[in-house]
Amino acid sequence: MNIPDFKFQHTYAQLPDVFFTRMPPVRVKQPEMIILNQGLGERLGLDFEGSSSDDLASAFSGNAILNGSDPIAQAYAGHQFGHFTNLGDGRAILLGEQVTPDARTFDVQLKGSGRTPYSRGGDGRAALGPMLREYLMSEAMHGLGIETTRSLAVVSTGEDVLRETPLRGAILTRVASSHIRVGTFQYAAAHRNESWIRALMDYTIDRHYPEVRASDNAALALLDAFMEKQIKLVIDWMRVGFIHGVMNTDNMALSGETIDYGPCAFMDAYDPATVFSSIDHAGRYAFSHQPVIAQWNIARFAETLLPLIDRDSNKALSMAGEVMSRADRFYQDEWLGMMRAKLGLRDVESNDEVLIRDLLDWMKDAEADYTNTFIELMKGARPGSAKCSQQAFEEWKRRWDERRLVDSADKQASEDLMQKNNPLVIPRNYQVEEVLAAAIDGDLDPLNQMLEVFENPYQDHESTKAYQEPGKGAYQTFCGT
Ligand code: AMP
Ligand code: MG
Repeated sequence: MNIPDFKFQHTYAQLPDVFFTRMPPVRVKQPEMIILNQGLGERLGLDFEGSSSDDLASAFSGNAILNGSDPIAQAYAGHQFGHFTNLGDGRAILLGEQVTPDARTFDVQLKGSGRTPYSRGGDGRAALGPMLREYLMSEAMHGLGIETTRSLAVVSTGEDVLRETPLRGAILTRVASSHIRVGTFQYAAAHRNESWIRALMDYTIDRHYPEVRASDNAALALLDAFMEKQIKLVIDWMRVGFIHGVMNTDNMALSGETIDYGPCAFMDAYDPATVFSSIDHAGRYAFSHQPVIAQWNIARFAETLLPLIDRDSNKALSMAGEVMSRADRFYQDEWLGMMRAKLGLRDVESNDEVLIRDLLDWMKDAEADYTNTFIELMKGARPGSAKCSQQAFEEWKRRWDERRLVDSADKQASEDLMQKNNPLVIPRNYQVEEVLAAAIDGDLDPLNQMLEVFENPYQDHESTKAYQEPGKGAYQTFCGT
């Protein structure tokens, strides 16, 4: 057997024991390679050359013990739809932290790897469709230039998993800057053990926010830095119409990466109330609610740090409160900046917000496709698909044209700005379903073609057009993954 050579370190396992359980992944019956991310493998410094498909399937199913691995399941808690629960890796195992040739560190985790002490009622397994879906969506997000965990491989297990019907079992190899979650801090805080929170905080600072180390108040500086990172991530989601679907605190990574691709989906027609997840009845995680929830999650993070911000709890609360009120302003400013960029505007003018909101209102009334409207604006074309009066659009466009004339960005600079911020393609929900159905049936070509287009979604590609047609009708995603 020729298993790729990993360069693992295990810094997380140096945290207090309560943060994890050492255990190997549970073996599977007959692992088979479904998809492998060669480019990501190279970036990680992995050499797949000498390995057969069976070797790789063994490695990425957890059947083969990788050299230097010291597998653990991580403990965490979280607010799920607002309710606090103890969780943990119920179906994932961290094999180790891969040190790349350029000296960066990435968690390599198997998802769907069997039961752990944190599985609660679950079977610890995952089905092929949802794991391929995570592979596709996370790689598409990466292509869109959005911070995200990535996907290295999917193997089928040769075992069925029982959902509503029996489905083919699978394991995804997820690569992340780390798997520290807001819920990991909540887990430490729920135990009211200050030394654990401090250990986790120090670890997080070392791994993701080394610049904070020099601050007089590291806890407060960490809160501030995380607040900015999390908000910037959500701004990117709003830029491309991404709806995460389960913004529970256990699904918010301290690294600022998008994590846990469950019921996520991209919006077609612009509607701020868009929800895809079948279990999100209240619209808690609707498109326009994401910034509010991000701030709610940051506040839950802030609570865990209070004892480290100041011994005097009133003082700590007021200092954290200042960060939270800055969060709202920060979001508004960043959002305006992002929307300006989508419209090719560089300067700040007092009427910009009205201009932007009027466009969005028009898009909502017209049921205009979010992505394609910006493409049409880039082309100087009328939004063809829109339902409502073109006159309203023409009036808006006149105002936009006037606004562009007073901007310091010349025509070329303005076009460049738009081109960088408006993707030509997003993963259309019906196409995601089509390529996944084909892949489950053994035809990987459509999935691979789609992945190729999403390596560069801002550039016109031979097959770009084939991915620009909006979906028709309602779409629903399911958490039962
Ligand atoms: P998620 O909604 O995917 O973020 O998962 C929430 C929690 O449920 C996490 O702690 C998961 O590890 C756990 N979980 C999800 N699916 C399963 C499963 N099939 N078996 C065991 N635990 C699971
Ligand atoms: Mg999760």
